[in-house]
Amino acid sequence: MIIIFIGPQGSGKGTQAKYISEKLKLAHISTGDLLRKATGKLKEKVDSYMNTGRLIPDGLMIKIIKERLNKPDCHKGAILDGFPRNIEQAEELDKIIDIDKVIEINISDEEAIRRLGGRLTCRDCGAVYNERTNQPRQKDICDKDGGRLTKRSDDTETAIKARLEIYHKETFPILSHYKDILIKINGENPIEKVTEDILEKLN
Ligand code: AMP
Repeated sequence: MIIIFIGPQGSGKGTQAKYISEKLKLAHISTGDLLRKATGKLKEKVDSYMNTGRLIPDGLMIKIIKERLNKPDCHKGAILDGFPRNIEQAEELDKIIDIDKVIEINISDEEAIRRLGGRLTCRDCGAVYNERTNQPRQKDICDKDGGRLTKRSDDTETAIKARLEIYHKETFPILSHYKDILIKINGENPIEKVTEDILEKLN
């Protein structure tokens, strides 16, 4: 089973994709996480795009996703979190894999800006917290593995605005490409309620 999660930055799609992939025993492919782990030449290439909130060129992104989908943990299926992000990527994906469901997690821009401003990420396991709405038990320390919590380098005001603009212009329009398999979820509800809604609609 292949499920795509689509939503603006801050919608909680990463948190939900991680939880639901564990629950359904599917691989979790976050293209943002794959790129943040890049080293050497690849890191040099992608850093300037990521830090300014721009999309990595399609050719490179498609190569990365193809390689990742070929890994053995994807044989049972996967949740794609952050791919595709424009119509070119969606059309390329259609050529390599059948998609079962697309989950759109929606929140307003105001809520996205509010959430991203306070987002903290564990630099070891990638768990996501929020300074206001989802605080760790101990300040700046991950509840799960004790890792240090940091702000993402692309969570600056300018980069957040650029990313939301790209979402509306390039990513949102691909939802009509998936209209027959689309599930819409209100991402402004509490995390647990969003998870419940997704699982209910997937059943
Ligand atoms: P995310 O963690 O999903 O918010 O992604 C962080 C950044 O990684 C984005 O702002 C882009 O610069 C880059 N990125 C992630 N996924 C893609 C993609 N499918 N296409 C192009 N760039 C991407």
